[in-house]
Amino acid sequence: MHAQVGSIYEQQKLIGYESVFVEGERESLDYMKSLFSDWQARNITSVLHEKRGGYANNLAAVRGLARKATALGVEIVAGVEVNGFQSSNGGGAISAVETSAGAIGSEYVIVAAGPWINAIWNMLDLPKTISVKGRDGKMHSDVRMWHYMALQEGTLGVDPDFQKTNDGRMPPVIHVDTDAPLHSDRDGKLITGKLWGLYYKPDFHFNGVQGGAMPGNVERDADDVRVDPYGPKSPEFVVTDNFADMWTSALAFCQKRFEGKHALYRQEPSGGIGCFTPDSFPVFDRFRENVYVIADSNHGFKMIGVGELVAGELLATRRALLAPFRFSRYAAGSFTRHRTVLFRGADADGLDGDGSCIVPRAPRRACAALRASEVMLFDGVTAAHFTDGGLVVESGPPGSFSTIRKETALAHSCRRLCERWRANDPDEALFDLIAHRRRAPWSRELAARVAQSIA
Ligand SMILES: Cc1cc2nc3c(=O)[nH]c(=O)nc-3n(C[C@H](O)[C@H](O)[C@H](O)COP(=O)(O)OP(=O)(O)OC[C@H]3O[C@@H](n4cnc5c(N)ncnc54)[C@H](O)[C@@H]3O)c2cc1C
Repeated sequence: MHAQVGSIYEQQKLIGYESVFVEGERESLDYMKSLFSDWQARNITSVLHEKRGGYANNLAAVRGLARKATALGVEIVAGVEVNGFQSSNGGGAISAVETSAGAIGSEYVIVAAGPWINAIWNMLDLPKTISVKGRDGKMHSDVRMWHYMALQEGTLGVDPDFQKTNDGRMPPVIHVDTDAPLHSDRDGKLITGKLWGLYYKPDFHFNGVQGGAMPGNVERDADDVRVDPYGPKSPEFVVTDNFADMWTSALAFCQKRFEGKHALYRQEPSGGIGCFTPDSFPVFDRFRENVYVIADSNHGFKMIGVGELVAGELLATRRALLAPFRFSRYAAGSFTRHRTVLFRGADADGLDGDGSCIVPRAPRRACAALRASEVMLFDGVTAAHFTDGGLVVESGPPGSFSTIRKETALAHSCRRLCERWRANDPDEALFDLIAHRRRAPWSRELAARVAQSIA
């Protein structure tokens, strides 16, 4: 856990995302007390404070997005259900969508169905099981494409201001993982002696302090999961009293102000299910020639920029930022690294085209260095590291290394960026440039050259 959080911090530094990383139990306690004087959680050995994290009023935000789309001429037709797809001439492409309002001819279909994705996936005859190449390089066949998890969430009925920081400001979302034994704040009984976690924040929509705990696996096959009625209306997937006891006790474990407050837990149905991919990471990709699937694997608001990227991809060229989310990553075994950095939105230069430049086996430092500048150059690179002599890449069968001189790498990289610029994709080229400027000396040199060439 500690190493993972440290790695996230390193990646955040690399992309200029402001955060503070605190290591050590004493130091972590002091840091948290500087935010909340009543902080008392035990066995916390590191803290990652993401300075730009936050929370939105969900409904208001989604309504705002709908207003923006409508203002741009989009017609939102609510209450129409998709029941199937038609393809003409026996081909793969979809020619019409079958709906409760009749068949609608379509040039392009974009699917963003949240937890209903499994049903739409089936309607599109996409594979229920896939092959996934593991970290060990072994192929695992028959892996279920979709599985469900039940999100356990609830609200404590206090004033949202109850959770302000020492200096009276709105706090960050608190997310705690610990292996300290958790005892009930209600009756003192041991709830768990294993690793557990929770998150919470003030919430003006739910009017209280709202949050959750670790999601539970829904063991059933995805096809047997009843997604409807959805959310709190579901008789199956709402949280139980066990959750209420666990979560309110966990709140009290973290901050003294929550001790003895379990009776304020809102006894109302809450929670819901999410539909997840094999690596719980989104899939944004094109299928059946003209169907674009946006399956966010329950990542929610942090994926808010994806619509624009997908639109850009449909109207112009493939977007490098979307490369880590391609479906092909499962067969290529390239889904294990770099994802946090990429999905936080700044590392377009790390991957090109269809994710063919992913670096699954490279050591972390080499990955970071590659992301910082050169990996876009070399299709098929599977491992790489920098030496004084240049960039050493493994680009053929495993073990076949070659060295590319720094000068060659820079020249090639510069040419590629300029080509993109001229190929009318200035957004991406510019993006790369900005990203490069912030990074390693090689990157800065590259940025300077590109700027000179396109000036
Ligand atoms: C309990 C819970 C708490 C969460 N909390 C947070 C949070 O705090 N922050 C956060 O960022 N994310 C959160 N998420 C995740 C977030 O809700 C999802 O990631 C997000 O809503 C996915 O957005 P989407 O647009 O892809 O799909 P959705 O928002 O699910 O929208 C899919 C739409 O497709 C429609 N649809 C489905 N099937 C059909 C069909 N056959 N025909 C026509 N229409 C159809 C549905 O009616 C729905 O309107 C939470 C999820 C759950 C379950």
